[in-house]
Amino acid sequence: AKVTRMAPSPTGFMHLGNLFGAVVDERLAHQSGGVFYLRIEDTDKKREVEGGVQLILETFKTFGLPFDEGATIDGDNGAYGPYRQSQRAAIYHVFVKDLVKRGYAYPCFCTEEELAEMRAQQEANKENFGYYGKYAKYRDCPLEEIEKRLAEGQSYVVRFRSPGSIEHKVRHTDLVKGNLELTENDQDIVLLKSDGIPTYHFAHVVDDHLMHTTHVVRGEEWLATLPVHLQLFDVMGWKRPKYVHTAQLMKMDGGSKRKLSKRKDPELALTYYYQQGIPVPAVMEYLMTLLNSNFEEWRRANQTASINDFPFSPKKMSVSGSLFDMEKLRDVSKNVISRMTAEEVYDFVSAWSADNDPEFHDLFVRDPEMTRKFLAIGRGGKKPRKDLAFWSETKAYMDFMFPELFQPDYSGMPESTKDDAKAILTEYQDIYDPADDMSAWFDKVKTLADQHGFAPETKLYKKNPDAYKGPVGDISMVLRVAICGRTNAPDLYSVMQLMDQDEINRRLTAACD
Ligand code: GLU
Repeated sequence: AKVTRMAPSPTGFMHLGNLFGAVVDERLAHQSGGVFYLRIEDTDKKREVEGGVQLILETFKTFGLPFDEGATIDGDNGAYGPYRQSQRAAIYHVFVKDLVKRGYAYPCFCTEEELAEMRAQQEANKENFGYYGKYAKYRDCPLEEIEKRLAEGQSYVVRFRSPGSIEHKVRHTDLVKGNLELTENDQDIVLLKSDGIPTYHFAHVVDDHLMHTTHVVRGEEWLATLPVHLQLFDVMGWKRPKYVHTAQLMKMDGGSKRKLSKRKDPELALTYYYQQGIPVPAVMEYLMTLLNSNFEEWRRANQTASINDFPFSPKKMSVSGSLFDMEKLRDVSKNVISRMTAEEVYDFVSAWSADNDPEFHDLFVRDPEMTRKFLAIGRGGKKPRKDLAFWSETKAYMDFMFPELFQPDYSGMPESTKDDAKAILTEYQDIYDPADDMSAWFDKVKTLADQHGFAPETKLYKKNPDAYKGPVGDISMVLRVAICGRTNAPDLYSVMQLMDQDEINRRLTAACD
């Protein structure tokens, strides 16, 4: 069984990459009967924002990612917690002391000025930046001097005494990136900052060990510092976890691929999906298609299966970065919604609109039965309608069902009916009967078509178009445009069944003017 974790920092921004990684974490753990936990990495107080932890928890809830332990849930009666790094200072101190004792860590009293000087020198000499080799000023500081400085109350950080050299290579087999040869770390990185708070590098190694993490899933930007993490596991005498370094999501921009950017791409922020009403199941489904290229094939063969039944494998993940495409997400979303029941759609739209479009929400829930029946039109069956992609589109999809929102556009009246439209609409008012069943309804339309010189059957029109002004479809189009105020709407008979008769008559009359 695998143990995975998601370890976000509460910086107030949860992005698509976080979700992408969390899906991998969750699948790896739960597919193997293991544990997926949430750890809050809040050691950088400068970057932390108020409500940051809350946002992380809400994201998990919104996207239905069930973590087994962490943050708000203790595992094994608290054996592995606390799960917030800010509450684990005493634990890190124990391990830092151990490293100091064994010669793998030491206090460094460098001031900001000294560090800046060091950097300037490295720049001038065209050398690597950092605290290493001859630049590691306090690495071999005599004990008496250390004691004296400590006694004087001088500020210090605790640094790692790296046993590595950039002359050496480290071999690493990554579950996504494959076999890699990385340069060994020679930097004496900071383990504890001067306020006693550990750095990410140190804290996460301690936590991943103590919390029994077997697989670390994180963005490829962490590959650069992986050698130091591996070194830390080694000097601590701990087993290294397996690593899954995921490539960044890319997008096409003006013909070339680039990484999604916080500044340019609103879709990078997870809040965007909620605000736009992009269905959570669609986002999850789309992420799966990006994660494993064989997912779509599996989906075609398993239309109604839960994505949790898909045999996810990190080995099938893209090494160079999947292309994120909003249009593709729309298509996936249309498919996902077309598989939902009208009740499910109703519940989703109701919840979304309550938060994001209260005015529409009031209309949407005013007559739930009508709304549900409307949403049921064309649903189910072999070829369900696929015209809703995002919940935010529901209003435009069905606004004509609400007299308050009805703003007809008559420009779609077929050319062929130019001279007859008025007469058709007037005559139709006399013959229309809401009690008609579908075939009686259609017979009336056909009769009307016949009387006005339109082919009562499309077949006849196709055979001899010159003998008719147009096909029967043109007559129903006149009715559709008059009643729905548009050319594209669900089945007209079903729509009319849900509409008040006076309202229908009003619209037929209004369209004549
Ligand atoms: N706290 C790190 C971040 O916010 C987590 C990196 C990791 O998963 O090890 O990106």
